[in-house]
Amino acid sequence: MADRFFPNEIPDFIPETAVEEAASVTTGDSFAKLLSLPYKTVADRLKRAALELKETVVRETWGVGGKRLQDYTLYTGALGTAYLLFKAYQVTGNKEDLNLCSDIVNACDSASRGSGRVTFICGQAGVCALGAVVAKHNGDERLCKHYLTQFKEIKPPKDVPNELLYGRAGFLWACSFINKNISKDTISPTRMRAVVDEIIKAGKRLASKECPLMYEWHGKKYWGAAHGLAGIMHVLMDMELKPNELEDVKGTLRYMIKNRFPSGNYPSSEGSETDLLVHWCHGAPGVAFTLVKAAEVFGAEEFLQAAVDVGEVVWNRGLLKRVGVCHGISGNTYVFLSLYRLTGNANFLYRAKAFACFLLDKVQKLISEGKMHGGDRPYSLFEGIGGMAYLFMDMIEPSGARFPAYEL
Ligand SMILES: [Zn+2]
Repeated sequence: MADRFFPNEIPDFIPETAVEEAASVTTGDSFAKLLSLPYKTVADRLKRAALELKETVVRETWGVGGKRLQDYTLYTGALGTAYLLFKAYQVTGNKEDLNLCSDIVNACDSASRGSGRVTFICGQAGVCALGAVVAKHNGDERLCKHYLTQFKEIKPPKDVPNELLYGRAGFLWACSFINKNISKDTISPTRMRAVVDEIIKAGKRLASKECPLMYEWHGKKYWGAAHGLAGIMHVLMDMELKPNELEDVKGTLRYMIKNRFPSGNYPSSEGSETDLLVHWCHGAPGVAFTLVKAAEVFGAEEFLQAAVDVGEVVWNRGLLKRVGVCHGISGNTYVFLSLYRLTGNANFLYRAKAFACFLLDKVQKLISEGKMHGGDRPYSLFEGIGGMAYLFMDMIEPSGARFPAYEL
């Protein structure tokens, strides 16, 4: 188990010293020095690094004049680069980023047609949704309308799964993204309600006395954010649910909390006894965002406490030997940012800072030495340094940070 992550030897809390004082320290390792700097100083360095990383990501995934797209998705492909550029534009206000973002979405638009994929992260819905929002920021009404019209033509097929990456939950997330960033009810509540009905109906079919909603993907009852309960419940809580449906969501989350591993981690699927994965996709980190949302929606202490418990698991076992947001340190850092947003507790911000400093100070060396995996798609948003760049940008205004394409 230990070879999946680095043992966390970072002190529980390091008080911040004045910049000058820390800069004059010549002994000790560079990581300790970095971590002792004031938050603002670290955030400035992260911003600088993020903008450099963004350039690298663009160069490697898009080139100078654009490439024929092999992979258009936000998960491992070009739309992820566009999403990163949109974030960079929000951070710096640099119009060049917005224009390049728009060009890339346009290329994704051609590549994604007829793909039959209906989600934000892995499908055409993500292309149309981001395309519409970017066009709105560019003041291009015609293009915005084009993407919205295309979006409205996407119909999740009858046999589509319910999970986030390929299923109904991922389609609904795209609807919420549009309604949040363009205007409320751009995608009508009736349209979304029909999809919610399908999800609830499917969940009831596999329900048990203990767990009111359950789903399968490729024959397995997954629990995590990418393919399972955590992701589906997370999206459902953004919908207008009936009181009995809210109770079903609550009951499902209580079932998960009750049946988590003694270590505090969560199984990747129903009945699994392998306490191995501490990822956003599988395991406790993905569940954390759902619990944070449940604490906000239901205002209940039980979900807040469960979310805080996940924070401990991620602190102890979350320094993964990968960088990305899906199953890497960057994604796990967002757990602390989410907990910080929920509680305002400075210790969570310290923990986010510590993981981000680890990434900034050590990752390049560790990858080049072969001690850390660069990712199968090393520049992508979900598996590679694209996600790390996104995190670094989010660290600038930590209370506004949102896990990319997952926290609204
Ligand atoms: Zn993953």
